[in-house]
Formats: sequence, C-alpha cells, structure tokens
Amino acid sequence: MTLPYCEPFKIKMVESVRQSTLAERHDWIRKASWNLFNLRSEQVFIDLLTDSGTGAMSDKQWGAIMTGDESYAGASSYYRLKEAIKDITGFEYFLPTHQGRAAENVLFSVLVKEGDIIPGNAHFDTTKGHIEFRKARAVDCTVDIARDITAVDPFKGNVDPGKLEQVLKETPVEKLGCIVMTVTNNTAGGQPVSMANLRAVRELADRYGVPVIIDSARFAENAFFIKTREEGYGEKSVREIAREMFSYADGMTMSSKKDAIVNIGGFIGFRDRDLFRKASTYNIMFEGFITYGGMSGRDMNALAQGLYEGTEFDYLESRTRQVARLGEKISAAGVPVQVPFGGHAIFIDAGRFLPLVPAEEFPAQRLAVEIYLEGGIRSAEIGTLMADRDPVTRLNRHPELEMVRLAVPRRVYTDNHIDYVAAAVTNVWERRQHITRGLAIRWEAPIMRHFTVELDLLG
Ligand SMILES: *Cc1c(COP(=O)(O)O)cnc(C)c1O
Repeated sequence: MTLPYCEPFKIKMVESVRQSTLAERHDWIRKASWNLFNLRSEQVFIDLLTDSGTGAMSDKQWGAIMTGDESYAGASSYYRLKEAIKDITGFEYFLPTHQGRAAENVLFSVLVKEGDIIPGNAHFDTTKGHIEFRKARAVDCTVDIARDITAVDPFKGNVDPGKLEQVLKETPVEKLGCIVMTVTNNTAGGQPVSMANLRAVRELADRYGVPVIIDSARFAENAFFIKTREEGYGEKSVREIAREMFSYADGMTMSSKKDAIVNIGGFIGFRDRDLFRKASTYNIMFEGFITYGGMSGRDMNALAQGLYEGTEFDYLESRTRQVARLGEKISAAGVPVQVPFGGHAIFIDAGRFLPLVPAEEFPAQRLAVEIYLEGGIRSAEIGTLMADRDPVTRLNRHPELEMVRLAVPRRVYTDNHIDYVAAAVTNVWERRQHITRGLAIRWEAPIMRHFTVELDLLG
C-alpha cells in the first residue's frame, strides 16, 4: 500500500476551540452588526479571516524567545536576525520594523515623493496607501490573465512587461520612485510571479534607471511555486530560489507575519549602504533605533528562526497542499473558486455563488455571514464593502469580482478542520437558491469602512 502524505511536524501545545450552536451564532453575528470583524475570537470556531500574524510558532521559535537580548543598541538578537536575512535574501543591510506597513512607511519616505509614479503588479492596500498618502500614484501592470479567475496559468501574479515598459517610457526618470514587485501577488489572489518575470523586470529597470523593491510577505510560497512550476528550478532548493529572486531587486519590504511565521514583525532589506543610511533616519523617527526598530529582542530571535523554517521545502509542501485541499474539496462540490489555488487562501466567486443577491446588497458579505452561521467559520469579504465608495461621487465602487477569501493560518489547523470548512461551504452552496437578499449599511466610516461597518440583514 502506498503510504499517505503526512505533515512534517507534530503538535506540542494545543489551544481549545469550542463549537457553538446556530442560535448562538445568529445572536452573536446580529449583535456584531453582521460584520465579522466585530466578533470576538471565542465566537469563532475556525478563523480564516487572515493568514497574517495567525501562524503557530515552533518549539525552536519559542526557545529563541527565551534567549532574546533586550539591549537598546547592538543586541545579539539584532545580529542573529541580520545573519538570517543576509543568508536567506542576500541583502547586506537591514532595518527591523514593527510590521510590513511600517517598512513601507520608512522606505517610501526615502524613495517616493509627490507626483511620483510607482508601477508594479497590483500593490497591496497598505503599499498603495503609503504611496497615495505621499500624493504619488501606484500603477498596476499585472498581466491581464490574472483578472480571469478561471484561467489556468502557472504565474498569474506576473507583471506584463509591455505595460510596465509603457509606464517607464512615458514617465520622466526623476518621477519614477521605484518599481514594486509583490510576491506572491496578494491582490491577484496569492498568485506567484515567475523568475523569468523578475528577471525581465530587472532588465527594464536597468534600462530606465529605476530601483526594484520586492514586497516580500509571501516570498517563500512564491519560491516554492517557482520550484514546482518553472522550468529549470525543480532541482534547486527553495532558499537558492529565494536568493535568486532577491538578486533582481535593490531592496525589499517584509511583513514577517506571513511567511516568516511570527505573530508580529517586519523589516527592510537593502543592497546599497547609502539607501540604508537614508532610511535609518526615518526608522529612528518612526520605529525605533536601528538595532530594534519597533521589535523586542525576543521577537527578532523568533523571526530569525522563522525565516529558516518558512523556507523549508517540506513545510511549504504541507502548507500549499492544505490550501489546495480546501480548494479541491469545495470546487469538486461545484463551488466557483479561483484557479490555480493561491498560496495562502482560497477565493470564492461570491457573485456566481449568490447570483440572486443584488450587487448593491453586498453578496460577498452575505456569503461570509452564511458561512459563519453554517459552521462558525470566519472569512473575509473582498468585494463591494471593501472597495469602498468613490471619493468624488460617493457611490459604491463595484469591483470586477465579489469574492470571499478563506485564508489559512500556517501550522494551525489540521486537515480535519479543513474538511469541516469544506463541508460547511458545501452546505451553504446546496441551499444557495434560498438566499436572495443581502445586507444594507446602517453606519459606515468615511474610509476603510469594511473594518467597522454596521449592517442590517435584508430577508
Ligand atoms: C500583509 C502585507 C503587507 C503589510 O504588512 P503588515 O505586516 O500587515 O503591516 C504588505 N504587503 C503585502 C503583500 C502583504 O501581504
């Protein structure tokens, strides 16, 4: 008999979770104004809201926590992290920050100014926020095929080199702050970027004299996909691939809450000493002295260890297999999902799932509420609620797709949990004809409304 696949770890510490009744969930979500962000975590059985900062640290990471050096300057934990970053990314210089958006804030204080154009492959919300806050513009040059969620292509996170070159050609070089390459492409659904694409971006960047920054939150999942999908990389290790990816960049920003499997933390990596020095001043102002930058010594220790664990092939295989397991189970039941499955999450096409719910009534939010009611599972709406209103007309912006994201935390849930989620989603799918109405807004904040919005259920 062929032996089945098993995860390359065992469990040393557990946290109890409690299943609730439908009546309890109905009461809780109503009191939460039908907004899943307003639920207490105890009211959630399986939490797939995000994979950010929700991973389980290893025994070695917890061990490293106990040996953290909390010196203000020159802590050994800083040097331990510096060594790990050099080893895994090749970047000689680095600055710790409290998370990914803080890394963007510090680096963009040097690289981005009013009127700049920052092209890339679909900038993450906070990245775009930090660009627009500086009155600069983020231009999305992602390949067109990324918009077709049913199209099968191994690297739907890529930038379209033609679109990118057009932007570079049209923009005076002094207005090109940098190119931002996000790996994996989060906004496109955790889709990877190929090595060939990173190489092509580097060539264009050199031709037009623009620095390349890699937004690296999920660089290890990206490297895993290169290894398993791109010709010529099958025999290379994930770390060798990651090193090559970073070799095409001048710097990186990192949210360590994703692929480095820690609960908080981030950093910036630099090749150039001059850029590092300029950014250091902002780091001291916004984050902390250059050898701690908003992180405790113990957290830097755990991050150094997490960078190694997060780039192990066996771990990445189990992680991507688990995400794919969820995708395979629900798509086998008929649920419309994005393919290929992303590295960190499964995206359900809520528009096709609930075609009877009018677009003005937030179909993706209704679906997220139904999945919660069905099984106590928390997911995230990525649709009209999140897209907010047009700043000028104040009308709802309707994105091309109404999506519900099921993001899988790292090393937290077993395949039984995943099968439970698949069954709950399938149950909602089977009663979808009876869901004809959505929700109406009772109160909303002027921007980023989805976090705090209060809603009423319509029928
Ligand atoms: C999470 C994320 C960020 C922001 O990082 P935080 O740690 O949440 O501040 C930036 N870019 C990408 C691609 C991300 O996934």
